[in-house]
Amino acid sequence: MIDIAANLKAVRSRIVAAAEQAQRNPADITLIAVSKTKPLGLVQQALGAGQNSFGENYAQELNEKATAQVADWHFIGPLQSNKTKLVANHAAWVHSVDRLKIAQRLNEQRNEELTPLNICIQVNISDEPQKAGVAPAEVLKLAEQLVELPKLRLRGLMCIPSPTDTAAFGRMADLYKALNANGFGMDSLSMGMSADYEAAIAAGATHVRVGTAIFGARL
Ligand SMILES: *Cc1c(COP(=O)(O)O)cnc(C)c1O
Repeated sequence: MIDIAANLKAVRSRIVAAAEQAQRNPADITLIAVSKTKPLGLVQQALGAGQNSFGENYAQELNEKATAQVADWHFIGPLQSNKTKLVANHAAWVHSVDRLKIAQRLNEQRNEELTPLNICIQVNISDEPQKAGVAPAEVLKLAEQLVELPKLRLRGLMCIPSPTDTAAFGRMADLYKALNANGFGMDSLSMGMSADYEAAIAAGATHVRVGTAIFGARL
């Protein structure tokens, strides 16, 4: 049987070590436990081990798991227009916004009584034709459009680089700094997964999205 508490402890201590190595405060890094395809029972185990932030990739699955008393659900998967409604009121964050139309729908569907939905723009940082995300050169334009939407709050940038693109995290950090120099006031850089979260932290990640190292391999 998988020991979720032990896995979480190991990942957390590696996050602390990577932060200290980079002379960063470990408290500035949020661990998002990516529970996609895993049963609610494992989410409950992680909650019991003190984990508060969880990530899901599929709108329907988020909708089903949202009954759990999770502090922060992060939606991190590709989002189609016909699924935005399932996400707009169950997630606290959406990391995968890469077009205005999706953002407009989330903004329309977000309940007035809730705090604004936190948004990251997904960047196709390794310029892969099959991958979601906006090209780095298009990020500024989308950011300018997103800040006009009152029920959304632009928090930062997200990426899933190609595994061979070792300079990708550094380019993301540069892009993030350049946008903030334009006054966007973003505070979140969502990058790093089980295989590379330490490298992402070295480059400045504030949110790492870790699935396999916590919940085991997915089938
Ligand atoms: C599945 C997924 C993760 C987690 O990946 P692991 O390699 O299992 O840690 C992180 N981010 C996104 C966008 C994912 O789809």
